Amino acid sequence: MTREEYADILLPDVKHTYEEYEKMYPERDLKEGAIVTRYAPSPTGFIHIGALYTSFIAGKMAKQTDGVFFLRIEDTDQKRSIDDGVNKIIDDLAKFDIKFDEGVTKDGEKGKYGPYTQSERKDIYWAFAKKLIIEDKAYPCFCSEEENMKNHKKQESLKERTGYYGKWARCRNLSMEECLEKINNGEQYIIRLKSNGDFNKRFTFKDCIKGKSELPENDEDFVLLKSDGIPTYHFAHAIDDHLMRTTHVIRGDEWYSSIPKHIQLFQMLGFKTPKYAHISPLLKEDNGNRRKISKRKDPEAAISFYHEKGIPNKAIMLYLATLANSNFEMWMEQNKDKNLDDFTFEFKRMSTGGTMFDYDKLINISKNYISRLKASEVYDLALEHAKIYDKNFATLLETNKDYSIKIFNIEREQKKPRKDIAYFSDVKNQVWYMYEELFMPANYNWQNITDKNEIELILNTYINEYYNINDDKQTWFDKMKEMAEKLGYAGNMKEYKENPDNYKGNIADISMIIRVALTSLNMTPDLYEIMKLLGMENIQKRIKKALQA
Ligand code: GLU
Repeated sequence: MTREEYADILLPDVKHTYEEYEKMYPERDLKEGAIVTRYAPSPTGFIHIGALYTSFIAGKMAKQTDGVFFLRIEDTDQKRSIDDGVNKIIDDLAKFDIKFDEGVTKDGEKGKYGPYTQSERKDIYWAFAKKLIIEDKAYPCFCSEEENMKNHKKQESLKERTGYYGKWARCRNLSMEECLEKINNGEQYIIRLKSNGDFNKRFTFKDCIKGKSELPENDEDFVLLKSDGIPTYHFAHAIDDHLMRTTHVIRGDEWYSSIPKHIQLFQMLGFKTPKYAHISPLLKEDNGNRRKISKRKDPEAAISFYHEKGIPNKAIMLYLATLANSNFEMWMEQNKDKNLDDFTFEFKRMSTGGTMFDYDKLINISKNYISRLKASEVYDLALEHAKIYDKNFATLLETNKDYSIKIFNIEREQKKPRKDIAYFSDVKNQVWYMYEELFMPANYNWQNITDKNEIELILNTYINEYYNINDDKQTWFDKMKEMAEKLGYAGNMKEYKENPDNYKGNIADISMIIRVALTSLNMTPDLYEIMKLLGMENIQKRIKKALQA
C-alpha cells in the first residue's frame, strides 16, 4: 500500500489536495511593509479587556501600514461557543472602533481567504494533515487517556520530563500494517506530529515585541487532529495563518511558550513562518502581588464592566493606547487636535513583561476626555447610558433636553473646563439637584453660620432686596458683596483675615448659605450659572423649603 492510499484511509473523502488549496489562496498583493493580521477569538461572546487590548493593537498595526485586519472565528472548542457570540463580539468591538477589513461579518463573510470560521475548514486541515502523513511527518495514535495518564505518572516517578515524546511516544513507530489492523478493529485514533526536534538543542527566535531569545526545540509529538477530526489550536493556527497569508501573528502572551511547536510546524509543513508579536498580559495588584486580570476573579476583565460604569469607549481606547506605547500620552498632550489614527504605534515600544492596568489612571483619562466634550455630546452619552441603566433618569433627560444641555454646559466649553464627570453612571450624582423631580435633600449642612434666624435673614434679604436673575455675573457678585457688608460680614477675604473680630463672618459664608439653600450641597459648580438655570420660581421655592427644614 502506498502512503497516499494509507493517508486516504486515515482521512477519507478530502475534496482537495493541499496543492489546490495553496493555489486557491495566493500571496496577497500588498505594498511593502503592509501588515496582514487578525483577531481570532472563540465565539463565547465574552471579550476580555486583554483581548480588547490585543485586537486594538492588531487593528492599529494593520491600518497604519495599509494592511489587512481580519476576523477569524476559532470555534473548534464547541463547548465554549454560544449562540450569537460572534455578532456580540463584532458589535462590541465596533463600539471601540475596531473594524475588520475582511473575515466573518454579521451577514456572511467578506474576503477571498475564507472560510474564516474554523469549523468550516475541516477539509483544508485534513488536506494538510494528509500531506504530513504521506511524508511520514504525522501518524495516527491510538493511546487512550488512561494510558497517557499512566505514562505521565511513570515519567514523574522517574523524574523525567512529562509528555508524549521520543521513547514515550508509543504509537510513533507502529507500522502502517499495525495501524491499519487497529483501525479495522474499530480503534479510535488521533493524528500526531512526528516531531523532528531535539529538546536539548536551541534555536534563536525573534519576537517583534519581546526581541530575541533562545528556545528549546520541540520534541513532543503533539496532537494535530483530535479523534473527531477537529484540529488543535496549534495545527489550525499554522494552516489558517499560512493560507490566509497573515504576515504578523499578533496575539496574547500566553501563546509564547508554544512557539517551538509553531515554528516547527510551519517548517515541517513547508510554510514560510510569519512574524510573531506577543502582547504582554494586563496585570493588577492583588494583595501586594501582581497577577493577570482574570475573567473568573475580576469584574473589570469584562468590557461590559466599563460599559455599565459608563466610561466612554473612546476614553478606554486612549488608555489602551497609553499602555501600548508609553510615548502616546506625551504625544496626545502635544497634539490635542489630533486623534488616535494620527499616531504611529511601534512594536519595539511595547511592554515585554506584564502591563499594569491602572484603573485610577483610566478614570482620570476618562474625566479629562469627558471634560473636553461639548455639552450636547455629554448629554448624548449620558442619555445613551441612562437608557440602559436608569430609565427614569433617561426620561428626565429626554423631557428636559435643552435644560439638561445647559446644565452640562456649566463651566464647560472653555479653556479650563470643569472635570466633574469621570463616567456616566455618576452623572445623576453630579446633577440631581438641578431637577425639581430629584431635588429631595437629605439634610442641609450650613457650615459656619448655624443660627437659624441669621440664615433666614440672609436668605430673605438676598432674595427680596438683591437678587435679580437678569444681572450679569459681575453685578451679581458685587451685589452679594454689598449685602455681605450690610449684614456685618467682610466683603473680601483679605479684610476678614486682617480683622476677623470685626465681622460676623465673610462673603464666603454668605454665598455658602445661598448655595446650601438652593442645592443642599457645600460644593457645586458656578452658583451664578446654577441660579440662572433654576429660575426665580424655583429659587424661591427652594429657599422656602430650606427654611422649613
Ligand atoms: N483563539 C485563540 C485565543 O482566543 C487565538 C490566539 C491567536 O490569536 O492566535 O486565544
